[in-house]
Amino acid sequence: MKIAFIGLGNMGGGMAANLVKAGHEVHAFDLAEAALARAAEQGAKTFTDAGEAVVGADAVVSMLPNGKIVDSVYHASVFGKAPAGAILLDCSTIDVATARKVIGDAEKAGYEMVDAPVSGGIAAANGGTLTFMVGGTDSAFKRAEPILQAMGKAVIHAGGAGSGQAAKICNNMLLGIHMIGTCEAFAMAQKLGLDPQTFYDISSVSSGQNWSMTSYCPVPGVGPQSPADNGYQGGFATALMLKDLRLAMEAAETAGTKTPMGLRAKELYEEFEQGGNGGMDFSAIIKTL
Ligand code: NAD
Repeated sequence: MKIAFIGLGNMGGGMAANLVKAGHEVHAFDLAEAALARAAEQGAKTFTDAGEAVVGADAVVSMLPNGKIVDSVYHASVFGKAPAGAILLDCSTIDVATARKVIGDAEKAGYEMVDAPVSGGIAAANGGTLTFMVGGTDSAFKRAEPILQAMGKAVIHAGGAGSGQAAKICNNMLLGIHMIGTCEAFAMAQKLGLDPQTFYDISSVSSGQNWSMTSYCPVPGVGPQSPADNGYQGGFATALMLKDLRLAMEAAETAGTKTPMGLRAKELYEEFEQGGNGGMDFSAIIKTL
């Protein structure tokens, strides 16, 4: 298949390389020269204009920073330039409303399109082990699925347009909340005189058990290897967690749903980022407790 790939950053670079490995002809575009050079090294054909990269493509995949950019790239460089009948896949994490709008505009322009945000970070993008949550019609999902399978370990149809983004931000809001809860529990256990390992041994087999504790423990030396064991470097940056919590709060307002814990998690991550910690892994918030 001929696949145009727009946005070859930390995530998109590895994803495009996996499409090349799967035997696709990848036509790559990014505004950054270094990203284009890396894609060329990995076997993609590079272009200096997105509108040229999509010419003749069977599919267009994008991995871009935010909704505003996604909206403008699809209108300026994809609609009317990619062949009629190309399947469009936006894998960026963006707000639900923009995802629905862009998919609606794609349909008006004669294309099938899905929102397909990912769970998993840079290592999963490089290793082809991402999880994709996909929003779109059954027909669009069926066409997108084999392309996504070449970049991930799981591809799940979440529902109609925007449902992938909805699943992603609900999941990450829950992650932000239970990470802070886990940090609070470990900090308090220690103040009450409990050894962190002992608390882990008890809570990890009791009702407080959760993913932040048993797969991503915020305390160094406890549980499986995690960013805490590496000075909170790597992993999932606080700035990205905050981006997802902000998107979640926007969606909660639009949907008219109460999310008091999500709101508090957003506020705490905002304070943490303002302290100069945006690049630290999100579990480093334990240092503030
Ligand atoms: P990044 O900043 O490394 O990459 C974004 C790329 O888009 C950059 O190379 C940039 O030059 C390019 N770009 C910006 N505007 C463009 C335009 N108009 N045309 C073409 N290229 C353009 O970001 P990333 O970490 O790769 O994240 C990409 C998306 O994936 C974001 O929506 C992010 O929220 C999401 N995400 C990231 C992670 C992660 O761990 N990094 C995890 C899950 C989801």
